[in-house]
Amino acid sequence: MRIVLLGAPGAGKGTQAELLCRKYNNIPKISTGDMLRTAVSNNTLIGQAVKAIIAKGQLVDDDLMSKLVIERISKSDCENGFLLDGFPRNVAQAEALEKAHISIDYVIAVKVPDEEIIIRLSGRRTHLASGRVYHIKFNPPKRPDQDDVTGEPLAHREDDSEETIRKRLQIYHQQTEPLIAWYQEHFPEKLIRIQGVGSVQDIESQIDKAIHQKRQFNWKDGVIE
Ligand code: AMP
Repeated sequence: MRIVLLGAPGAGKGTQAELLCRKYNNIPKISTGDMLRTAVSNNTLIGQAVKAIIAKGQLVDDDLMSKLVIERISKSDCENGFLLDGFPRNVAQAEALEKAHISIDYVIAVKVPDEEIIIRLSGRRTHLASGRVYHIKFNPPKRPDQDDVTGEPLAHREDDSEETIRKRLQIYHQQTEPLIAWYQEHFPEKLIRIQGVGSVQDIESQIDKAIHQKRQFNWKDGVIE
């Protein structure tokens, strides 16, 4: 199974990504945000180059991002599928996947109003090593500020400040949202639109139902999955 999760920062992609990866035989989650944050914390050359861009909430260069993702997908653990979280972020990146002949089964677009996102992100805490996400009020860790699995400290991301969140939302609406129309035009049989407001379980079951319906529909229409 090859899945793209599309949605604004804070739309719940990380949470749903975990559930989907588990459901589909532990396919790897490829989160470009996590990859970049790891590079920053390891102080690699790429990390040094992108640190300030991330802190400002801007987008990293398309060619660099496409190269990183295409390289990652060529690894053997992606043979049976993968889930992309945070990539593609614009039409140029989607076209780079096309050019590399990387086909996707489902593109799941999760929609959440901006004001809800600001509330969510300002309370978000992340376990940087795994990408596991919590919310101090809506999804708190078992012990305050500690990851449930490893017990390691959780971080409040620098780019989760209100000012940077607003900037990231603006970029999302300008650059990433048009991708939904792009997928609708080029691959309508793959696009699934979900309302991302409600409990984690509600959203999970909306996604399940939509994938099930698409599978039946695509099968009936003779479209190869
Ligand atoms: P995220 O965790 O997906 O919200 O990503 C955090 C930050 O990493 C973004 O605000 C961008 O600065 C950068 N980033 C992540 N993915 C991409 C991408 N596909 N293209 C460009 N920049 C990205």
